[in-house]
Amino acid sequence: MKVELQNYTPDPDRTAAHAALTCYSEDVPVKDEMPEEQVKEILDKIKESGHHSVIEHASFTFAVHDVSRALTHQLVRHRLASYSQQSQRYVDIDNFDPVVPDSISGDDKAAEIYSNFMEDVKETYEELKGLVPLEDARYVLPNATKSNIIVTMNARELWHFFSLRCCRRAQWEIRELADKMLGLVEEKAPMIFEEAGAPCIRGPCPESPEFSCGEPMSKDRKK
Ligand SMILES: Cc1cc2nc3c(=O)[nH]c(=O)nc-3n(C[C@H](O)[C@H](O)[C@H](O)COP(=O)(O)OP(=O)(O)OC[C@H]3O[C@@H](n4cnc5c(N)ncnc54)[C@H](O)[C@@H]3O)c2cc1C
Repeated sequence: MKVELQNYTPDPDRTAAHAALTCYSEDVPVKDEMPEEQVKEILDKIKESGHHSVIEHASFTFAVHDVSRALTHQLVRHRLASYSQQSQRYVDIDNFDPVVPDSISGDDKAAEIYSNFMEDVKETYEELKGLVPLEDARYVLPNATKSNIIVTMNARELWHFFSLRCCRRAQWEIRELADKMLGLVEEKAPMIFEEAGAPCIRGPCPESPEFSCGEPMSKDRKK
């Protein structure tokens, strides 16, 4: 998996704080004159008060390479986002190279079963491609098939996405993606994304004891 931050709203922290300040000013304030401390003070208040719509003014576009279709299917369930995904109708998966979960590569028997099945898929897809259009041959491709996708989300949706998908109990591949995306955006918008991530870095786990992992994450998300 490779994740790149392709584009983002310039100066995202100040852009969001400026939007908030505009709500309470007679005239539109001058954005670039807002000192760093004022930006921080406003964003802290915004988070505390729940006036979260102002962080929607900051958007981020990611290029995500070589992830499974199992991942992209989960990702696109997040509706407040824009997506452009590699087409299996127009792009020939001629170098079929599936994603292999660690649980499978780490178990000899599982790895053999998986690899045999994937070899069969590869052969079947190749055979079908000679007989029917790609859009129909692709019906034999599994969740493990690699894909590329461009994703744009605003900071409010990213906060929500990180809350769900950076959790230790999230599925491993989408969690890896969410952790990488969070690492990229916090470099550009450290104030907006301060304390973003799994809910347990901010307070108690919202899951029931049955679903909670019982191990709250540290504030820096390293443990
Ligand atoms: C651990 C986990 C397990 C899951 N298991 C399953 C499963 O078994 N089956 C399954 O189908 N899905 C499953 N999902 C997917 C889940 O149901 C959501 O579709 C996905 O997480 C997208 O999140 P969302 O709906 O909160 O928000 P998004 O689509 O990201 O939207 C953000 C927020 O906007 C608001 N919003 C968006 N659209 C609407 C709307 N139409 N009406 C009102 N408010 C809206 C909501 O407040 C929402 O939380 C799972 C997700 C997780 C994290």
